[in-house]
Amino acid sequence: MASQAAKSLNYDVIVIGAGIEGSSSAYSLAKSGQKVLLIEQFPLPHGRGSSHGHSRITRYAYEDDFYVRMMVDAFPLWAELQKEAGVEFFVPCGVLDIRAAGSASEQRVVSALRTHNIPHEVLNSSELKARFPAVTTTDGYGAVWDPSGGLLRADKCLAAYQTVFKQLGGVIREAEPVTSLTPGDLVSVVTSRSVYRAHKVVIATGPWTDRFASALNVNLPLRPIRISVLYWKADPERLKEHGAKYLPCILDSRDTREGHFHVYGLPIDEYPGLVKVALHDGPDINPDHRDATDSAWIDHVVAKYVSELLPFLDSKQPALREHCIYTNTPDKHPFIDRHPQYPNVVICAGFSGHGFKLAPAVGKAVTELISGKTPSYNMAPFRLDRFSPKSNL
Ligand SMILES: Cc1cc2nc3c(=O)[nH]c(=O)nc-3n(C[C@H](O)[C@H](O)[C@H](O)COP(=O)(O)OP(=O)(O)OC[C@H]3O[C@@H](n4cnc5c(N)ncnc54)[C@H](O)[C@@H]3O)c2cc1C
Repeated sequence: MASQAAKSLNYDVIVIGAGIEGSSSAYSLAKSGQKVLLIEQFPLPHGRGSSHGHSRITRYAYEDDFYVRMMVDAFPLWAELQKEAGVEFFVPCGVLDIRAAGSASEQRVVSALRTHNIPHEVLNSSELKARFPAVTTTDGYGAVWDPSGGLLRADKCLAAYQTVFKQLGGVIREAEPVTSLTPGDLVSVVTSRSVYRAHKVVIATGPWTDRFASALNVNLPLRPIRISVLYWKADPERLKEHGAKYLPCILDSRDTREGHFHVYGLPIDEYPGLVKVALHDGPDINPDHRDATDSAWIDHVVAKYVSELLPFLDSKQPALREHCIYTNTPDKHPFIDRHPQYPNVVICAGFSGHGFKLAPAVGKAVTELISGKTPSYNMAPFRLDRFSPKSNL
């Protein structure tokens, strides 16, 4: 009996963290035939990490062609997951990537899209105004129109991964924080309730990753910040006039007298009459005390943006405010790599506010790393040692 119980606690792979990256990794590993355990500290679903909420933007438009390459896989893999789970979570509304017209960054986006033959259009400010009258443009600003992009219904995506993972024979333990792990040929993972063993482990613990990385002597510059997710009420008359004429997802990166800022917006899909417009920045936080910080300044910055560029919205104050966490790295690229001393441990964290859409490709990359296969993607930008001398990871 005792040996049977011990055996039942052994897995090929244990994935720690059931956010979108851990869940997509667990799903992909299970699909590749591995016996997988996914462990989550909170009861599922929960709203305390980075993967909750109704919506995320998905797109091909990136400045770096290695992300475009990942999205070439991610789009069909999301579609496959929709079929497997029998749920529709992709809303194809297109994405407007607004930037200074002709800027080096705009050219990088265009070049990355061309490298992978992704359909797109470059709009100058008058073309932008004509095509999307709901969005007020300012002189010198244009956009790259990414018609294949759109909105992912995030909660449904996460649930779909977890449901199909279980159908594939995967096991989820929720409300069970991992308290420590001991590396070795067989990794021991200790939780609040049990001890599990596996040949391989994936650490996908989002803003909580630092504690595992430090315990494994890896120094990762991860910076959890709190994001205020703001919803603004659309004026019904002006919505009829403008917004009804189709509002896509928007990314807007611009320099103002107050400095550089990056705002994103999503069309009405969640709360009737409310448009989500938020700042891609926020205060540093401890993820265990996410709401203990004041960030009223963000409301003011976004209200100013809304009043100037999305005038069909009531900019007096947000109608609704929710919170979420980004785990930023200095170059805004995640860490997806094997541990230098323990190659059977993969760390996958630091998605810097843009990792949701990438999740299917991340799951694929993690599966390849775990299985010792040649990765399908350029993994150099995601190396653990890119900020530290190798001897001093
Ligand atoms: C407001 C907001 C808007 C965003 N918009 C976009 C967008 O439009 N497009 C896009 O592509 N991306 C977007 N992102 C980013 C994207 O959502 C994140 O990059 C992604 O969700 C990160 O997922 P994760 O799995 O790394 O982290 P998380 O979702 O935080 O998952 C980590 C999980 O690990 C668990 N965990 C931690 N410690 C332990 C432990 N000791 N034991 C067990 N479990 C543990 C946590 O509880 C958590 O569930 C947005 C993020 C936010 C916050």
